[in-house]
Amino acid sequence: MPIVTLSNVSKAYPSRSPGSGDVVAVDDVTLSIEKGDVFGIIGYSGAGKSTLVRLINALEPATAGTITVDDVDITALTERELRKVRGGIGMIFQQFNLFASKTVKANVAYPLALAGWSKADIEARVTEMLGFVGLADKARAYPEQLSGGQKQRVGIARALATGPAILLADEATSALDPQTTHEVLDLLKRVNEEQGVTIIVITHEMDVIQTIATKVAVMERGRVIEQGDVFDVFSAP
Ligand code: ADP
Ligand code: ADP
Repeated sequence: MPIVTLSNVSKAYPSRSPGSGDVVAVDDVTLSIEKGDVFGIIGYSGAGKSTLVRLINALEPATAGTITVDDVDITALTERELRKVRGGIGMIFQQFNLFASKTVKANVAYPLALAGWSKADIEARVTEMLGFVGLADKARAYPEQLSGGQKQRVGIARALATGPAILLADEATSALDPQTTHEVLDLLKRVNEEQGVTIIVITHEMDVIQTIATKVAVMERGRVIEQGDVFDVFSAP
């Protein structure tokens, strides 16, 4: 069953230089992400990957086309309804985006407090999430005291705290060395297999896709030029 679909989705930005046409960041993209997939989106810098992420997360509207998340057409929602959709999507980032002035525990608690959880429920959930990512002993540490891999594990705990069905990983291992990258990818695999979270992995690194993804879409100049099972797409014709 598809959990995210894009049908003929485009996003154009007005060009910054007068006289030239719009910049078409995403150009007529159609794709379907199944519940439980680890779906890779790969392409060089400028291919349109980040724009695609912002469209799926409803951070900005598409210029054309239809996007559904959990069978809901998000191109026709109010801001209030959009907030609910965003609540069902966790995000992790290349630069981790942790709050530097908050402890690990407070970072993971943050989205739960925003969602209105009680203090006792937050306490229990943070303990559970830090246990899951193997950082129970770092609850009182600050981000600057952690390694890159540990910071990303905090990012994963925070992104999944409220129990979203979808995790968007935007270049989430691009700032990490190969060894740490594989540790984080192993953790994401567990998130997918043990918690049933659908994971969308945005990357420019083929190795990341081959390690973790089952399906892949290849982007070039805003378009998806190929998509399918990772094995089929990347094996020579
Ligand atoms: P990627 O994430 O694959 O590097 P992006 O989605 O960031 O690609 O960018 C795709 C294209 O859209 C690029 O040409 C970029 O310059 C352009 N673009 C992205 N965001 C904006 C924006 N807010 N305004 C104008 N152009 C943009
Ligand atoms: P903004 O400046 O966009 O209002 P926020 O204060 O809401 O940012 O959040 C700052 C950062 O905290 C975000 O970039 C994101 O990394 C993280 N964040 C906020 N809310 C959540 C959430 N519900 N799940 C995961 N990370 C979050």
